[in-house]
Parts: sequence; structure tokens; C-alpha cells
Amino acid sequence: RPVSGYVGRFAPSPTGPLHAGSLVAALASWLDARAAGGRWLVRIEDADTERCQPGMGEHILQQLAGCGLLPDEAPVWQTARVDRYQAALDRLTGAGLAYPCGCTRREIDAALAAQGIGHDRHGERVYPGTCRHGLNGKAARAWRFATWRMPAPTIDWVDRRLGTQHQDVRAEVGDFVLRRADGPWAYQLAVVVDDAGQGITDVVRGADLTDNTPRQILLQRALGLPMPRYLHTPLVLGAHGEKLSKQNGAAAIDTGTPAAARAALDAAAQALGLPAAPLQDGVEQALAGWVAPWAALYNPAL
Ligand code: GLU
Repeated sequence: RPVSGYVGRFAPSPTGPLHAGSLVAALASWLDARAAGGRWLVRIEDADTERCQPGMGEHILQQLAGCGLLPDEAPVWQTARVDRYQAALDRLTGAGLAYPCGCTRREIDAALAAQGIGHDRHGERVYPGTCRHGLNGKAARAWRFATWRMPAPTIDWVDRRLGTQHQDVRAEVGDFVLRRADGPWAYQLAVVVDDAGQGITDVVRGADLTDNTPRQILLQRALGLPMPRYLHTPLVLGAHGEKLSKQNGAAAIDTGTPAAARAALDAAAQALGLPAAPLQDGVEQALAGWVAPWAALYNPAL
């Protein structure tokens, strides 16, 4: 079936079962790949081992299959790819673009307070750069990306749905973590290495990840990797307007029967602004019927 050079992916973290929000990202990325005549891959993002639940990757694949969302190749697991992340970190370190950091959270807060700098708008810490020029005898707790060494730490980019975006990564995010010394790989590094390694041309994912994209573009530039196109889908909010996430216990979608899977897909399609599918359609027919409406809504640039 695939004919074009398009390669898309859905990249769930196995921290909990698929919920209504993650199914929107899965459906959107699948429809985009089909509309473009391309391939659709699934990558289980278990690199941040501490947050993952045993067996959850397999469970998510079953939920996807229940919805008729079958990858065109065998799914990839990040835990099988850590050598690639290490190689990328070694290249960055060798180029002076990554460095070890020995700061605790408390030390970071104290350094920021001393400089009169608060937290950013998300309440996150912009790293004050304490360990840029050496650990001063401390043990490494993390490796950080040296944003201040990048010639252009300001990223202008275009999202296929949201249009022109802008972020000064150095000022708004700072030297972000690539790996924690106790093992886990940071999402930012793993996702960039894998999107390039799998030849991903189009990233379609939830809008909660929009402000991660400039960090990923910066890493692509530092590693000399191609930049995919990006489309961030509308977010699905809970009944009380809250962001749905596995962490805050969003309800798992029920994919146990074809009718339940169809209902879950209908809700996801509605969130994407797609028309209702005929009631008698099975999941495969409903999916096929959404490809043309998806293309009309989101595909003009392809
Ligand atoms: N693994 C990430 C998540 O589940 C998404 C990664 C991505 O699509 O870039 O939130």
C-alpha cells in the first residue's frame, strides 16, 4: 500500500494505557500517513525507564490493534536502542555541546534566587549554568545540552496546523537535561535520535508537546540530523477542562469490543473535526472513510 516517501509515527510512552487524548494523536498520525500514501510506524518510548509500567507497551499495541491501527513495520522499543542515544551524547560531548552537571534541585533554586531569576511560566527551572565550566569536584547527576554554545539558540519554525512558532530555547528553557546519571535517557534526546534513525518525515502529535519542538530542532541541528515536518493536533480536555494525561489518571479507552473501539475512535475523530462515520461501519471502514476528510483539513502542504 505505501507508495510515497512519507514516514509517520505514533510514539506512546508506556506509562499507562491509551486514553482519549493519546488516541487522538494515534488516529491523527495514522490518517496523515494514509492521506500521504506513506508508512506509519509505532515506537514505544520506554527510554525514561522509571515512569514506565511493565507490560504496558504490549497493552498499548493491543489497544491500537483493537482500533484497527496497525503499524506497517514491527514496533520499535527505545530500551533496545540505548547504544544510539549514548553515541549521540558522546558526539555532543565531544563537540562541547553537552556537559555533566552536579547540581541538585535545591542548588539550582538557590543559584536562581541569587541571580534574581524565578521559574519560567510553566514553573520549571531554567538552569542557571552553574556547571558549564566544570563540576568543581561534584559528582555528575545529569548531562545537559549546552544551549549557550549554539550559534542560534532561537528557533523559528512552522507547525502545519498552528503556523509560525518561535522560542528562544536558551532564555526560555536553558540547558536542558539529555540524560540522568542514574540511567534514564531524556525524552528530548531519544525522540530526536529515533525520529532521524527511523527516517520520520512527519511528526503528528498532541499540542501539549508543541513547546518541546524547539529543543528537538536545536538537537537536530547540533547532531546534523534532518528536521521533520510537524503537526500538533488539538488537545482533548477532560470534563472539567483539565489536560488528559496518564499521570493525572485519565481513563483508559475501552477497545475490548469492536463497538467500544468504534466509539473511542468516533470521539477521537470528532476532536479532530472529522465528520461522523456511518453507524454500521466497522473500525477499518470508519478509518478509511476519514482519510479524505483528514486530507482536506490538514494536508495542504504535502
Ligand atoms: N512519548 C511521548 C508521549 O507519549 C510522545 C512523543 C512524541 O510524539 O514525540 O507523550
